[in-house]
Amino acid sequence: MSNLTQLNDAQKKELSDIAHQIVKDGRGILAADESSGTMGKRLDMIQVENNEENRRQYRTLLMTTPDSQQYLGGVILFHETLYQKDDANVMLKKHLKDRGILIGIKVDKGVVKLLGTKDETTTQGLDGLGERCAQYKKDGCDFAKWRCVLKISDTTPSQLAIDENANVLARYASICQQNGIVPIVEPEILPDGEHTLERCQEVTEKVLAACYKALNDHHVYLEGTLLKPNMVTAGHSCPTKYTVQDVAEATVTALRRTVPPAMPGVTFLSGGQSETSATAHLNAINQVKAARPWALSFSYGRALQASVLKAWQGKQGNVKAAQATLIHRAKMNSLAAVGKYEESMEAQGAADAGSLHVANHQY
Ligand code: 13P
Repeated sequence: MSNLTQLNDAQKKELSDIAHQIVKDGRGILAADESSGTMGKRLDMIQVENNEENRRQYRTLLMTTPDSQQYLGGVILFHETLYQKDDANVMLKKHLKDRGILIGIKVDKGVVKLLGTKDETTTQGLDGLGERCAQYKKDGCDFAKWRCVLKISDTTPSQLAIDENANVLARYASICQQNGIVPIVEPEILPDGEHTLERCQEVTEKVLAACYKALNDHHVYLEGTLLKPNMVTAGHSCPTKYTVQDVAEATVTALRRTVPPAMPGVTFLSGGQSETSATAHLNAINQVKAARPWALSFSYGRALQASVLKAWQGKQGNVKAAQATLIHRAKMNSLAAVGKYEESMEAQGAADAGSLHVANHQY
């Protein structure tokens, strides 16, 4: 008899069902798991004070948006939101559950510097992760997010950063799966810098290849995972401009070279792209003429929330308008996830076309 720790068939089925459900029929993920510090930066932009009550009001708006289940298969929450209630004393998570939207939770504890590197980082939070995952599962969560960050410069990402981040992602993924939680594997390559599209593609391929080697080494059940990568784009300060099609081709090529077909869904992060370009890129990705054996969808934070925050402005009277804005963006991205989005579907002036880039972005 083998003494290896194995997932049994029922556990595997549960994980695979969860992963598939999240990206079913063009659905994607709303990443609303900003830590309290990061939420402060978002609220600052609309001059709303960053306190627990205002965060609760804002998250209530997001979680109670009618009909969001048509476009969202999952929402990622920050710990605080999982236990918050609306004005009528109903748990916010209940609003999601009742609509069949799966609940995700951010389980990493942020980045820390790697000694001897050029400001490169790994992500912490493995200690006690098994116990936290078990509790989160009991409290209604079905998937989790762990964000690793890699940086492009002449000398980075270093092999150390690539290996360390791939390993920590795989270790996190294995702990999640043992607790019935689908891990979203997120190796984000930041868009900061002057690098070309080609350089981003080369680095993305290297990083993803290392991640899938590590996931295999750690016996992670790929069918019960999701991947949350950056799209392949040129650096923010790159003087060469590329078309939407260039980005789409480079992104699909990098994925085809490195991501096994057993993995059910790619849910891209928006990474500081404007709302409209994040949607246009996703749509073009889903129109690339090459076999794409995974769902290619979204897990956007900034690109789903920028215009919602603007519409809300911290005012109760604006809640309905802000919810309509969220539904519109979610619908546009859901159409893009099946390659059926057209720019003419944007209501004039509603979407945010401005860059949402933040240098050295923290979450
Ligand atoms: P952005 O879409 O704002 O890049 O964030 C998504 C996310 O969850 C990063 O971890």
